[in-house]
Amino acid sequence: MAYVCPRCGGPVARDVSAGASILFGLVGALVSAAFGSLKCARCGEIDQSEFPPEVRSQMTRNSILMGVSGVVLFVVAITFLAQGS
Ligand SMILES: [Zn+2]
Repeated sequence: MAYVCPRCGGPVARDVSAGASILFGLVGALVSAAFGSLKCARCGEIDQSEFPPEVRSQMTRNSILMGVSGVVLFVVAITFLAQGS
């Protein structure tokens, strides 16, 4: 999911933490993808307030969607483990 940098017009990506992905697997990856800091390859970290309002509301929607997916996956995994063997 890429956004456009408000400063240079380049692509901005979430800074997905590798550590979180290793620790929490897919759930951690989803959560850091939803709430990680936004980084432009040229300008570095971009504050959410620098993006236009419509992009920010889109980000909020995407973050909620990914956060909910992470929680659902977590619950499914726990349920599966609890029923397993
Ligand atoms: Zn930029």
